[in-house]
Amino acid sequence: MTDDSEALAHLYRLLFTPAELGLCGCGGPDEAYALVRDVLSLAPFYDDWKAVEQLIGERACYFVLYQLDRCDLIEHGGGIGGSWLTEKGKLYLGLMKQYSLDQVDESGLPHDGGDCPAECPYSPRRLRAVSE
Ligand SMILES: [Zn+2]
Repeated sequence: MTDDSEALAHLYRLLFTPAELGLCGCGGPDEAYALVRDVLSLAPFYDDWKAVEQLIGERACYFVLYQLDRCDLIEHGGGIGGSWLTEKGKLYLGLMKQYSLDQVDESGLPHDGGDCPAECPYSPRRLRAVSE
């Protein structure tokens, strides 16, 4: 696998598997992709909460943040509104700025659909270890 194809495969898993963001792919996945990228770009949210609320919309704001938190893309102390990026969030934001959804769409799951081995740079265990 090239670095590009490895990156795209892991991005594919983040977007389309139910344990992660779980987009089904119909409707407006481009909008969802851009929203996640743009919200992550605003972190840390304690710097400008108004911008986060404006981007997502007041009513949907916390729901979107709960999903990003569930996927370990952001983390927080006292309140989710003050979240910052995790190591995973930093890594995937970089990929989302680099690749379009069309490129991701042509990919498939990494490691033949299996979990990341310990040496994989996208391994959740490895990313958590960097954060701690
Ligand atoms: Zn992997």
